[in-house]
Amino acid sequence: MALRLTVLGCCGTYAAPGGACSGYLVDDGSTRVWIDTGAGTLANLQRHSDLDGVDALVLSHEHPDHWTDLEGFYNVCRFVTHRTGIPVYGPDGLRRRTYEDTGPVFDWHVVAGGERVGIGALELTFSRTDHGPETLAMRIGGGGRTLGYSADSGPGWSLEALGPGLDLALCEATFQREQEGMAQHMSAWQAGTSARAARVPRLVLTHLWPTLDAERSALEGSDAFGAPVELAATNASYEV
Ligand SMILES: [Zn+2]
Ligand SMILES: [Zn+2]
Repeated sequence: MALRLTVLGCCGTYAAPGGACSGYLVDDGSTRVWIDTGAGTLANLQRHSDLDGVDALVLSHEHPDHWTDLEGFYNVCRFVTHRTGIPVYGPDGLRRRTYEDTGPVFDWHVVAGGERVGIGALELTFSRTDHGPETLAMRIGGGGRTLGYSADSGPGWSLEALGPGLDLALCEATFQREQEGMAQHMSAWQAGTSARAARVPRLVLTHLWPTLDAERSALEGSDAFGAPVELAATNASYEV
């Protein structure tokens, strides 16, 4: 396996019926990392991995739709699988959001924009986005392939900040054109514009608002990207 992205949840802001908030598994066949642990993603994780099959967690920011299943996973590790020292990477401050202190189950590492970390065979580089709290987009390299994930961001940040040579970009597209500027998020059109500027060959849109017509988001994104975009689907996998 080169590099595989599996969507555990992709609803923006809140989960649609049967859906889940943001969460992704990235796996190169030797290292498996759970990126964002939004509500509903722990349940879906178990469709794709043993509960003790995750090597590390990476959290993009402290908005609840990106991390609250960390609480459930803490319970799993403490009472069921009895794991300790699981690496968790995230921006400063997130550790203090949990119900109780999660050490020694989790081994927290504060990361910031511009930093690079190695997790097993994967290499991650972070970039601070245009979003309310400190939010980290990431470039993830493994198996000779490279994935870019925008996390949450307004249009003041671009996928170009993750550097050249991305094979696939997973970019937030919360809004459509009518909602642009309503909050620090991108529309599908802005995501397409960003991916085109970064010369990404393949774009997957995620974090769509459940109230919006996803097919229309795909059309607006494709229009700006200059090629058809894909829509993230819960439990779907993508070979990067
Ligand atoms: Zn979000
Ligand atoms: Zn957010």
